Amino acid sequence: MDWSAFRDRFHLPDGVIYLDGNSLGPLPKATADRVRRTVEEEWGDGLVRSWNDAGWMDWPARLGDRIGRLIGAPAGSVVVGDTLSIKVYQALASALELNLGRRVVLSDSGNFPSDLYMAEGLIASLGRGHEMRIVAPEAVADAIDDDVAVMLLTQVDYRTGRMHDMADLTARARAAGAVTVWDLAHSAGAHEVNLTRAGADFAVGCTYKYLNGGPGAPAFIYVRPDLHDRVRPALSGWLGHAEPFAFDAAYRPGAGIARMRVGTPAVLQLAALEAALDIWDDVDMAALRARSQQLSDRFARGVAARCPDLAPALDPHVPRGSQFSLRHPQGYAIMQALIARGVIGDFRAPDILRFGFTPLFIGEAEVDGAVDHLADVLDTRAFEHAEFARRRMVT
Ligand SMILES: *Cc1c(COP(=O)(O)O)cnc(C)c1O
Repeated sequence: MDWSAFRDRFHLPDGVIYLDGNSLGPLPKATADRVRRTVEEEWGDGLVRSWNDAGWMDWPARLGDRIGRLIGAPAGSVVVGDTLSIKVYQALASALELNLGRRVVLSDSGNFPSDLYMAEGLIASLGRGHEMRIVAPEAVADAIDDDVAVMLLTQVDYRTGRMHDMADLTARARAAGAVTVWDLAHSAGAHEVNLTRAGADFAVGCTYKYLNGGPGAPAFIYVRPDLHDRVRPALSGWLGHAEPFAFDAAYRPGAGIARMRVGTPAVLQLAALEAALDIWDDVDMAALRARSQQLSDRFARGVAARCPDLAPALDPHVPRGSQFSLRHPQGYAIMQALIARGVIGDFRAPDILRFGFTPLFIGEAEVDGAVDHLADVLDTRAFEHAEFARRRMVT
């Protein structure tokens, strides 16, 4: 693949090495025009007619199909909308209903807090005696037993980058009679995923990280096609109704994945996402995965050689996603010092420096530049300047 051609499709400010596409993907050059067209022509001139004429109402399904290609989901099994936290709630609620006799929601301590919080909140509202069983990531396989109603996991640990074997854990869960919900927040657009081959029941993810849909871009949800007509949507909004414009007083779920829609789609965000997905249509996911591992390995080697005070957050033999994380007690200040030099990664409490390697716009030169800056920040103790200790809201 010609990676430099992909890089040309992004707006990247001069002097910046952007290693945080795993948190907020950069701006595709085509996005501004695409959004402007939706604002000026579709909204400005088309007005309410654009729900039909510009196809706004179908966007959640159409863009869902395009994401489906990246995650091994057939057409008609993915729909876009809401935020990831909402989609976690929806998927878990439907999954629990498929397994009414059981009480345990199994997850791991590497899951993102919002997924765990949403599960806690749902369990409290259901009031049916469900309980969370949260184990270490390495202990998930052994914690699957006959009490588990739903296994709710994020495939790639947002802090360490540790990657679960989706096919293996899904097969084990299925054999034990548990329903599976996979969060692909750090997987979709990062490496190959095949939900169909894995036999996953539900999956969710966001589009503002690797997929580059922009801040506030909507989430997506997948339901295995043979379950579509059995799942009851817990968030029974009008756009998931069989006939939204019949305005019935009673809810009847729509056919297929459409029932996982809730309310009015965020059209301006969908326009931005559509421009971002144009890039993904041209990406070979196997080649992308190989390249991202090659780049993060290069970074790991550089750091090991030149930054003895930094410890990898993960054993090098454990499979990882598209990020590489390092630990240091002064991690926050070190990251602030790097950002001041234009090397942008992020910090995750208590001590993790996180770097994302997204081959669409990162190459060897950026990796080497980041290692140089990191070594310099540590060697000169530049991170000890008072300005880098000040905690800001978003880390
Ligand atoms: C980023 C992320 C979220 C964020 O959820 P939002 O509702 O989009 O804010 C949730 N879960 C995981 C695993 C994430 O990585």
